[in-house]
Amino acid sequence: MICVSLGRRRHSALKQAYRDLAKLNPDLVELRVDWIMSRLNVARLLKKRPTPVVITCRREQDKGRWSGTEEQRLAVLREAIIGGAEYVDIEEDVAASIPRYGDTKRLISYHNFEDTPTDLSEIHQRMTECDPDVIKIVTTANRPSDNVRVLELIKSATVPTVAFCMGDLGMISRILCGRMGAPFTYAAGSRAGEMAPGQLLWDDMRELYRYDSITSDTKVFGVIGDPIAHSLSPLLHSTAFHEVDFDGVYLPLRIPAEDVQQTLQEYDKLDVSGYSVTIPHKHAALDFAEVPDVQAKLIGASNTLFKADGKWHATNTDYDAIVKTVEVGLTTFPEDAREIKGKQVLILGAGGVARAAVCAMQQNGAAVTITNRSADRARALGEDLGCQVVDWEQRGEQVCDILINCTSVGMHPNVSESPFDLPWLNESMLVFDTVYTPENTQLLEYAKTRGCATASGLDMFVRQAARQFELFAGQSAPTDFMMETLRQSLLTPS
Ligand code: NAP
Repeated sequence: MICVSLGRRRHSALKQAYRDLAKLNPDLVELRVDWIMSRLNVARLLKKRPTPVVITCRREQDKGRWSGTEEQRLAVLREAIIGGAEYVDIEEDVAASIPRYGDTKRLISYHNFEDTPTDLSEIHQRMTECDPDVIKIVTTANRPSDNVRVLELIKSATVPTVAFCMGDLGMISRILCGRMGAPFTYAAGSRAGEMAPGQLLWDDMRELYRYDSITSDTKVFGVIGDPIAHSLSPLLHSTAFHEVDFDGVYLPLRIPAEDVQQTLQEYDKLDVSGYSVTIPHKHAALDFAEVPDVQAKLIGASNTLFKADGKWHATNTDYDAIVKTVEVGLTTFPEDAREIKGKQVLILGAGGVARAAVCAMQQNGAAVTITNRSADRARALGEDLGCQVVDWEQRGEQVCDILINCTSVGMHPNVSESPFDLPWLNESMLVFDTVYTPENTQLLEYAKTRGCATASGLDMFVRQAARQFELFAGQSAPTDFMMETLRQSLLTPS
C-alpha cells in the first residue's frame, strides 16, 4: 500500500488537490494539515472524504510547517480522531497526551533528520509502549548500509512498522520496506509537493518500481554508481521486466566510492540478486566478485554482478555488445570480408570503453591501433594490452577497416563535434560510434555522407543491457522493446 502525501498552503487548495488525487484511487492519503496557512477546519477536511487518510500536523522541530502553539496542534490531532480519520500521526513524545478513541489508528512516529541512530531497536521498543497501531521510524541515510539496519528492524518488529531512510541514499528502503513487511510506504503526489528529502513520486513508485507488486518473492536488482540519478538503466530494466512479466524490481543505487565493498556485503542481507555497475565502481565490482569471468578479468573491470549458485559472478557485457555491434555492422561488407579476424581497427580514446573495445577486437583476431588526446594514457593502454599507438594529431592518416570512437566527443550537448573529420573517412570503412546521446552523432552523419557502413552506440547500449537482463532474469531479453524504450526516453526532454 502506498500513502500519498499532500500539502497545500490554502485549505481550499488542499481539498481540491485531494479530490483530484482521489480520482486516481490511491489506497491512503496523508493530509499534511501543518502546511495550511489559512484557517484550518479538520472536520470539514474529513467530511465526505473519498479515501482513507492519515492526518499529520508536523511541528517545526520535525521539519513541519505548523506555526500555531503546541496546545493548538494537539487539539488538531484530537479533532482528527473525533472526526474519525483512519490514522493520526502522533509523535512518540506526545503520544501520552493523545488518548485512543473510536476506530482511529494511532501511528506513532519518530523522525531523525541527522542520521540513523545505532539504538534503533531501543527506540522501537520505547515506541511499542505508546499504544501504537503502527510505528513509523524515519531516519536519514548517511551511508547506504543505514538502509539495511532500518529494513531489518521492520522484519523483526512485533507491531506493524513503517520504516525507511530519507535522503538520496535512502531510496532503496522506501521501495523495499513493503517487501520486509511494512504496511505501507510514503510517496509525493507531485514534485512540488515533496514532503521529505528523497521522497519518490507516486507515479514512479507505482508505474516504474511497481511497489504494489513487490513481494518477498520479488527479485531485487539495481545499478550502482556515483552519480546515478541520470542512469537510463532503471527505466530500461524495470520496463523490460514488466514487459515479460518477470517478478523483479530494479533500482538506482547511489553508493559513494569509499562505501562500495561494505555496501555490497551489507546488501546481501537484502537478498539482492544482481547489479549493473557504472563509474566509479567497475574495478571495485571485479574485486568484490567471487567468480570473475575471462572477459571481466581481461578488461580489468566489470559492469555486471550477478548471483548464481550462492556466489557473486562478475562479467563485462560491453565486450559481447561491442563484438556483436561490429559483427552486425560488417554484414554490409562483401561476403568474404565479414569477419573481424584480420581487420585493421583504429580505436579513438583510452578510457574504460576503449579498453573493452581493444580487448574485444584483439580477442577476435583484429589488429588494433589506438589513439588518444592524452598521449600518456594511450601509451599506458597500448603497453598493457599490446597494441599499436599513434599520435592523436596523426589519427587521420591511419589506414583502417573499422573505426571505433570511444571518446565522449560528439556527446550531448556538444552534438556538432566529431573526433574524426569527414575527409579522413572512406566508403570501405565501418564506423562505430559508442556515443549514444544523440543516436545519430556528427561522426555517424559524416560516415553516412561518405557511404561508410555504420554502427551506433545505442545498439551497443541496448545489447549490453539485454545481456544483463538475460543474466538477471534467466530468459531472453525483449530487445526491440528495450530499444524503443530507450529511443523514446532520449527523445523526451528531462
Ligand atoms: P572515460 O574513461 O572517461 O574516457 C573518456 C575518453 O574520452 C578519454 O579517452 C578522453 O581522452 C576522451 N575525451 C574526452 N574529451 C575529449 C576531447 N574533447 N577530445 C578528445 N578526447 C576526449 O569514459 P568511458 O567510460 O571510456 O566512456 C567514453 C564514452 O563512451 C562515453 O562518453 C559514452 O559516450 C560512451 N559509452 C557508450 C556506452 C554504450 O553502451 N554505447 C557505454 C558507456 C560509455 P583523455 O584521456 O585525453 O581525457
